[in-house]
Amino acid sequence: MNIFENKENANNGPRSITILGSTGSIGCSTLDLIKFAPKRFEVVALTGNENVNLLIKQAIAFKPKLAVIGNEKLFNELKEGLSGTKIMVAAGKAALVEAAEMGSEIVVAGIVGIAGLLPTVAAVKRGAIIALANKECLVCSGTLFLNEVSRSGATLLPIDSEHNAIFQVFDFNNSSCVDRLTLTASGGPFIRSSREELLKVTPSQAVKHPNWDMGAKISVDSATMMNKGLELIEAYYLFPVEENQIDILIHPQSVIHSMVSYNDGSVLAQMGTPDMRIPISYALAWPNRLRTPAERLDLSEIGELNFQKPNPKRFPALALARDALKMGGAMPTVLNAANEVAVDCFLNEKIGFLDIMRVIEEVLDETSNSTLHQLSEISSCDYTIRKRAQEIAFELT
Ligand code: NAD
Ligand code: MG
Repeated sequence: MNIFENKENANNGPRSITILGSTGSIGCSTLDLIKFAPKRFEVVALTGNENVNLLIKQAIAFKPKLAVIGNEKLFNELKEGLSGTKIMVAAGKAALVEAAEMGSEIVVAGIVGIAGLLPTVAAVKRGAIIALANKECLVCSGTLFLNEVSRSGATLLPIDSEHNAIFQVFDFNNSSCVDRLTLTASGGPFIRSSREELLKVTPSQAVKHPNWDMGAKISVDSATMMNKGLELIEAYYLFPVEENQIDILIHPQSVIHSMVSYNDGSVLAQMGTPDMRIPISYALAWPNRLRTPAERLDLSEIGELNFQKPNPKRFPALALARDALKMGGAMPTVLNAANEVAVDCFLNEKIGFLDIMRVIEEVLDETSNSTLHQLSEISSCDYTIRKRAQEIAFELT
């Protein structure tokens, strides 16, 4: 028994589903799959934060019991937009948690950043199937999060394409035969840019990923490769391997989504076109599969697949994340908080692209490690580090 297999899906009728962050890239891809297989799902709750018009549109189309907007100032707009329907409406952080607590079989954790932690944990606590996209929440609270999963009997299924790939080819009955995990990385849009070019990178250039269409924060994380750093930590928590068994490999075509190497020399990989609807569908239908409208992989058209080791000087985020994981304790929480603030400052044109790493390095250097015993300590560590990261970013402006 492992965290992925606490529950059998014996339910043959429509599966009830809540989408936390339905207005985002993961949320929209999830709804796209539901539109494609409407008889297989029943939407219970949808949540957004700023894009109230899209949330209203989604609620009218998918008829959930509840629609929640994180930003309380938008409550009246949501209420008006859904007046005359039977859909309940609510706003604010506590309402996001209530949406997660509402009875549904599956909860898609698609909020970006630590803002998704408390709603996701609320879904874990009631033993739901968690289709986890929100890697930051696992990075921040690793062992505490997994303890809650074990306590409640929740099922944790990774949506992140690399972890979903590993999940599909990992032999959980013979985990001692696993030698290594290889997380593939596209290398992002600036894989060939010079340092001079990186100094001038603008937010609109950074959010343009060559292969994937994603939200702004994860797109910047992909450009700095902090996304792969966070994914290293995510993989450590999700799979029974040690930190030094997890490798990162640049693979610009994003066809092989990750690999597992076994002690007999076999390497199992999962492949597909870069379309998040594939890993999302796997989590939504698990342990079965769902037909998706995703484009099919044609290797003869792609012709060749390339691989290279990441250059540690060019992508310092990888070493920062690995060190934070090795140090353990509060360090992954600190890394994540500093990164969230630095990326936000970059997106708001307060600091340059290369300053993102400067802020994170400075925060990590000056923070002494501690042990975080409960979720409230994670939230307060996050709060303190955010304030400090903002000060450091401000000094750079
Ligand atoms: P996005 O920016 O497109 O969407 C984020 C969602 O979170 C939106 O619905 C937004 O309303 C909501 N949100 C943002 N701040 C919030 C707050 N303070 N309170 C409540 N809700 C809030 O991001 P995304 O690309 O969909 O990514 C979502 C998560 O999935 C991230 O953790 C990301 O790392 C992960 N992920 C995304 C992809 C992808 O292809 N997009 C792939 C793998 C993993
Ligand atoms: Mg990923």
